This record gives sequence, structure tokens and C-alpha cells, in this order.
Amino acid sequence: MFHPLIADPSATRHILRKFKLRAVKGLGQNFLIDADIVRQIIDAAQIESGDEVLEIGPGIGTLTQGLLEAGAHVTAVELDKKLPAVLKETLEGYENFRLVEGDILKIDIAALMPRRFKVVANLPYYITTQILLTLLEKNLSVTKVVTMVQREVAERMTALPGSKIYGALSIAVQFRSEARIAFEVPPKSFLPPPEVTSAVVVCDIRKPPFEVVDENFFIKVVRAAFAQRRKTLPNSLTGAGFSREKILSALEISGIDGSRRAETLSLEEFANLSATLQNKNS
Ligand code: SAM
Repeated sequence: MFHPLIADPSATRHILRKFKLRAVKGLGQNFLIDADIVRQIIDAAQIESGDEVLEIGPGIGTLTQGLLEAGAHVTAVELDKKLPAVLKETLEGYENFRLVEGDILKIDIAALMPRRFKVVANLPYYITTQILLTLLEKNLSVTKVVTMVQREVAERMTALPGSKIYGALSIAVQFRSEARIAFEVPPKSFLPPPEVTSAVVVCDIRKPPFEVVDENFFIKVVRAAFAQRRKTLPNSLTGAGFSREKILSALEISGIDGSRRAETLSLEEFANLSATLQNKNS
């Protein structure tokens, strides 16, 4: 079957007109119209024939088509109820495509994708962080997460200690993966163009570099430390309900100077600090 390329400005306009659709801002709809960007995303994800891929928000099928042509088995989750009828036509005849209607934040991803899989998505920007945190949960068999996000979010995901934008998201991403910005994408590659520059981030999922006994507790400490990031650690951590005495003792045992702020702590230092804080004897 011949499939016209969707990643093209006039093809996209034609599809939207035909189905009397407008990009819905509240759903973060910015459709890709640049075939080179679609190719670059697929290259960054190192898609091979037979790969299981979860796509979040297929839209009218632009990136999906590239993935399907590369031989991936794509499961796509889409929230907008108007889009299944469009996808039925734009992706007609691709047998390696499965559409799931629903909200990615409510679906049981582990049940949907029981085998090893990659995530490839041009994310809806209004829920980027929640989606990333969901994908980084440890119960999933995900091996690679390749997402288009706002450049500013991409920079936070990959920020290192000492940087002003290093925060809870940097730690969540880097605890689970090796993350890097693959390339930037200008607003003109989308219809309608978003207000910001975007970037594609590749997260190679791997075992965490440090053992963390209780991940929920670790996350609680990280969040508390960054909730008031201008304060020194003893001051920011009292906000999470720890006594000052306990914090000072835990900092000392972990070899962390009490005058430091959260943004200077490495992943390993956070892991040590949370283990010590949790230890009843310290
Ligand atoms: N993949 C298409 C592309 O690259 O042109 C569309 C990307 S667009 C930035 C984001 C897509 O996510 C839209 O199709 C939108 O309807 C969908 N979406 C928004 N919120 C969602 C949610 N909670 N669950 C699943 N899909 C969602």
C-alpha cells in the first residue's frame, strides 16, 4: 500500500482540513511537519525492525508513520477522542500498529507493554514531567526513552550538580538513565509552532549507579531539599519534618558540609544522606 508522507506542511494541513480539526492547545497539540526531524528521532532511538515501541500522543500519525516504516511494532496511546478516526485513515494498512485510546497517566503501562520496549514520543508539553516520572518507574521493561520536550526541560533533565537548573527532575532522570540531548528542534518544524525551542532527549535506561534502599524516602529527601533550593540543607530539610538535630547528625555522618545547598549535591551524596536520615540509629 502506498502511504503519502504525513510529515509535511501541506499534507498535515490537508488532513486537518479534511477532518475539520484544529490543533487543541490544551492537549499540547503541536504536530511535526518536518520529515528530517522524524528521521533524526528514529535514528536517535536506534529503531530496528521488530522493536516494540510505545508512542505517547500519536496525533495524526506523523512520527508513528516513520516508526512503522522503520519496522517497529508501535503501541500508541492517544487521549483526543477525535484522532482515532484520523489515524484509521492515515495509518491504514500498517499491521504493526496498535492504538490505545486513553490517558497515558492513567493507563497501566506495565500491563500494556510486558516485553522489552522503547518509548518514542513528541510529548504534550503540559504534562512532560509527570509522563517522564511515570516512564522512569522501576516496574517497567523500558530500555530507552526518546522524547521531544521543551529545550528548557531537556536542559533540566541533563543538568549536573552545581548548575542553577539542577533539581529533582535531573536526579530522577539520571538515577535511572544515561541522559543526553541529541539535537534541538526549532518552532518552525511544528504546526502550529510552539512558543519555545524544543529538544530531543535520549535516556538510556540502566541500573541505578547507587543502591537506594527505599526509593520513596530518597525521593522525599530530594524533593524537600529542592523545595527551598536557596536555603542551606539543614534549613530546607526541616521543611520535610526532620528535626534539626537529626539533619545535622546525618549530614556529618555522610560527610556533607551543613552550609551546602541542594543544587551542589551529587546523586551519590543524596543517596548517602537519605540512607543516613532513614537510619534510626543516626
Ligand atoms: N506525535 C504527533 C506529532 O509528533 O506530530 C503529535 C504530538 S503532540 C505534541 C502531543 C499529542 O499528545 C497530541 O496528539 C495530544 O492529543 C496527545 N495527548 C495529550 N495529552 C495526552 C495524554 N494525557 N495521554 C495521551 N496522549 C495525550
